[in-house]
Amino acid sequence: MDEFDFIIIGAGSAGCVLADKLTATGKHNVLLLEAGPNDNRFWINMPIGYGITYTDASINWNYFCEPEKTLGGRSMYWPRGKVLGGSSSINALVYHRGQAMDYDDWATAGNTGWGYQDVRSVFEGLEDICSPANDNRRFGSDDSVKPKNLRLSITDAFEDCHSIKTELCGIFSQSALPYRETPPLEGEGLGPYFITTRKGKRCSSATAFLHPALKRPHLKVLTDATVEKIIISGRRAKGVKCRQSGLERTFMAKQEVILCAGAINSPKLLQLSGIGPGELLHQYDIPVLMDQPNVGRHLQDHLGISYYYRANRPTLNDVLGSWSGRMRSGLQYLLRHTGPLSLSVNQFGGLVRSNPAQSKIDTQLYFNPVSYQPNAGNERKLTQPDPYSGFIMGFNACRPTSTGRVDIASTDPGIAPHMSGGYLSTQKDLDDVVAMARLLGRIQDTKGLSSLLLEPPQLDLSTMTDADIIRDFKQRATTVYHPCGTCRMGPKPDRAVVDANLRVHGMEALRVVDASVFPNITSANTNAPTLMVAHRAAQMILEAVDRKP
Ligand SMILES: Cc1cc2nc3c(=O)[nH]c(=O)nc-3n(C[C@H](O)[C@H](O)[C@H](O)COP(=O)(O)OP(=O)(O)OC[C@H]3O[C@@H](n4cnc5c(N)ncnc54)[C@H](O)[C@@H]3O)c2cc1C
Repeated sequence: MDEFDFIIIGAGSAGCVLADKLTATGKHNVLLLEAGPNDNRFWINMPIGYGITYTDASINWNYFCEPEKTLGGRSMYWPRGKVLGGSSSINALVYHRGQAMDYDDWATAGNTGWGYQDVRSVFEGLEDICSPANDNRRFGSDDSVKPKNLRLSITDAFEDCHSIKTELCGIFSQSALPYRETPPLEGEGLGPYFITTRKGKRCSSATAFLHPALKRPHLKVLTDATVEKIIISGRRAKGVKCRQSGLERTFMAKQEVILCAGAINSPKLLQLSGIGPGELLHQYDIPVLMDQPNVGRHLQDHLGISYYYRANRPTLNDVLGSWSGRMRSGLQYLLRHTGPLSLSVNQFGGLVRSNPAQSKIDTQLYFNPVSYQPNAGNERKLTQPDPYSGFIMGFNACRPTSTGRVDIASTDPGIAPHMSGGYLSTQKDLDDVVAMARLLGRIQDTKGLSSLLLEPPQLDLSTMTDADIIRDFKQRATTVYHPCGTCRMGPKPDRAVVDANLRVHGMEALRVVDASVFPNITSANTNAPTLMVAHRAAQMILEAVDRKP
């Protein structure tokens, strides 16, 4: 049996940040337990390797949600990272904070200190903005003022983006949408996306925060170590039971156990440990230490759709789909770490209003200069894009209101929980789909877009009926991989799992710090807000420890 000051469960986006920040002062011993392996893999490092890690069971939980009634009974694939870096090691690299209103709504829900004015400086403190041409910091800090803290590199890759970028400006201005050549970091605006890369390689949370901290003697990291239960005595978390490479091990925490296992596994682990909906726990004969109906509830996710277009000029399909193109871009990547293999598939997009009269930013758009269809085995082989020059435009609603859930399906920690997105269960979410499709219809109808097309769009989104738009959406929409909210933050235990300091209500020495604490989903991609949450949590934890006599 070993004892540490802090035990962190899960080395994902949030866990890696905490491992760094809690060991930076040298005062605390920290144990970081990760169910997956080390992240030293070619396809993780190379951004376009996303198409391969997407289904690689050795580093991915490869979950499927329950059949979704509103989506024709489809059971959707829900990938999640199971490796150092967690989902930030397998994600599509887009970096976007969302919009100020997202965090202001967190504060309005009673979470003091989480409004955008409060968290903006936390974002600024974690971001290191680079451009690939010279790897010089564009702002934030220059080389003479090196940041003392470890930071996440986010890259403005505009120069490397596909040449179709020259047409995008015209297309979006003809659609009365704001477009700039500098990537949007927050709020309204379209452009190239910021991506989490450093010198052409993926910059996951492990790359940015964990690896540089590994040499610290008071940080111990165990991989292939799956926590099966939190040890609780009375109302205090004391330690964890964990299985590492087949062996059962017990670790004790002097200060705190910090749950960073992500929006699926954090609620699952609380439920397995006796904190969750009483009725559910009774079903599996788990002693109820605390009847907490909110554990695993309020799941929110973005649900998106892609529309496919045949282009009258070469797109990335021509590069990635041919041997000569792959050889050329492979060589470019190996020699200079630039070119299409150094980028996300999601090259352009951002947040907009579905129509000018809309008072709130409600739509996230994607414009990808490549098109490929996930096959029956859920593979997204980027080496097998569609056999024609093609591109994709797609959207998802920023702030869906439907909610889903995560419930254990067994007392065996090795069995995946039941999980569902509860998608499209509100009228607002259905109305959003129609409004966003009409926006895409207006973009399709611009002269600029027509000038890129070899043939008319497969679907005429301007003339389709609302019912047809929704029917098509229900048949084809997929998760955008942003589940969150399953251990949400709020001032009262009857509506939330953790308080504004991310401590589990009614418990001592137990926090949850990951995407599951979001009180509401943010408008864009969820890695940036998760990293922000973890930075802020680290400040709180260190302050709390310092205050102790
Ligand atoms: C395919 C995909 C594409 C995405 N694309 C984007 C994108 O482009 N931009 C963006 O911003 N976001 C994207 N996301 C979402 C984003 O990456 C996540 O929201 C974010 O990484 C969540 O961080 P987290 O710390 O909550 O969880 P995770 O990063 O998932 O970390 C949880 C960690 O805990 C470990 N763990 C779980 N259970 C246990 C256990 N019992 N014991 C020990 N360890 C455990 C897991 O293995 C994992 O390493 C994407 C996600 C996926 C899956």
